[in-house]
Amino acid sequence: MTIKIAIIGSGPSAFYTAQSLIKEEIECEIDIIEKLFCPYGLIRYGVAPDHQSTKNVIRVFERTLGNPDVEFFGGIEINNSPSIEDLMSLYDAVVITTGMAKDRSLDININKRNLDGYYGSTQFVNWYNGHPEYKNLNPNLDTDTAIIIGNGNVAIDCARLLVKSPKELENSDITEYAQKAITNSAIKQVYIIGRRGPLDAKFTTVEIREMGELLDCDSILSKGTLSKIANNLLGEQIAKQYRILTSFPEEKSTNSNKTKTVEFKFYLSPTNFISTDDKISSVEFKNNLSNNNETFIIKAGLIISAIGYQGEQILGIETDSSGMIIHNDNIIKNRLYTAGWVSRGPSGVIGTNKRDGAKVSKHITRNIKSKNSLGRIGLKELLNKLKKRYISKDQWTLINEEEINRANNTSPRLKFTSQSEVFKFLDNQ
Ligand code: NAP
Repeated sequence: MTIKIAIIGSGPSAFYTAQSLIKEEIECEIDIIEKLFCPYGLIRYGVAPDHQSTKNVIRVFERTLGNPDVEFFGGIEINNSPSIEDLMSLYDAVVITTGMAKDRSLDININKRNLDGYYGSTQFVNWYNGHPEYKNLNPNLDTDTAIIIGNGNVAIDCARLLVKSPKELENSDITEYAQKAITNSAIKQVYIIGRRGPLDAKFTTVEIREMGELLDCDSILSKGTLSKIANNLLGEQIAKQYRILTSFPEEKSTNSNKTKTVEFKFYLSPTNFISTDDKISSVEFKNNLSNNNETFIIKAGLIISAIGYQGEQILGIETDSSGMIIHNDNIIKNRLYTAGWVSRGPSGVIGTNKRDGAKVSKHITRNIKSKNSLGRIGLKELLNKLKKRYISKDQWTLINEEEINRANNTSPRLKFTSQSEVFKFLDNQ
């Protein structure tokens, strides 16, 4: 008897779960339900557009989606209606893999979200990647200085995209509007700010190395950085990414003809955003190495906070304060499971989600017995009753082909950026 499984979300952990279930060779029907019209979540909207090799994992996921036992329901958000409870009544097992899609909030006593020029990294990253909810963000690039707060790979992605030349973005799938805005931007100086030191940064080797190889941008450390590293740790055997980072010079070479500079500053925490007419103009920082609350100000018209992610609330699902689902070994309750960032926090590379998928698939194969659930047929009936139009797997195939066909010679795809645009395209087929 066929086990009917619904997976909510269509990022890496959804596909690794489906892949593991298929490998288990149980008789199953797997429906991947996604609130956007397209699958692949973080790979499409989180991974930087100039990191196409990272996006190649999509080819593996395409094979999973192509399996006859797998179907896609795009454009369907599971929260109020349909709800988790609706799915629980239609399927034998339900897996939540919705990731963490919100910005972790900076702990500053100011209503910063109303300030023009301040953005969380999810907003900025989703903007350049063409996410339907963020394509109209229109970040302020009419400023010569940007500040990026945070010392992780997302901070590096944001900085790199801001300073790359058009030539360096040629083979990327950056949206046309973002490429144009970045090419025409006034930004010459980007500061990447860490609250701790260079040896505490979370950058990985490939990402930090790229910062030293940019065509029109020098990467430097702020003056005096190396002398502040405690206990002469630089003399020790340090990991490769720190060796690369600490090899950056402490000032721009006078011979450099590169027009842009990224400066890494450390031991600083933002304490205040200063604005004029609700437009950000500078940020006050405190020096975390100072004993007498020393502060100073950097002028900038663009601030991106890249300090990690938070989960979004799903009706009826208990989470902790960071939006992580409360579960025991990936089991939320009988027949309800979770995997990926929403189950363990926003860390690790794409492949890290494989383990979660394998674990959930083992739980399902060991513990779930088919109970003649309606599954896919029931979901289609419900969506029909609710008058909700969804994007099927075959329709996604058409959309995918169209995105690839309409791209220019160098870009791998030209993305659709709204559901209405997608429906219009499908209606004309
Ligand atoms: P992350 O690696 O956890 O880095 C977050 C950074 O924000 C840390 O430097 C952290 O400092 C800092 N931070 C946190 N709270 C702060 C606060 N209140 N004030 C100032 N700084 C604060 O997170 P991420 O960059 O969002 O990346 C998420 C995951 O995706 C990571 O595993 C990352 O490697 C992965 N990723 C990979 C790639 C790639 O492979 N190319 C690209 C993007 C993302 P502390 O260390 O002091 O807490």
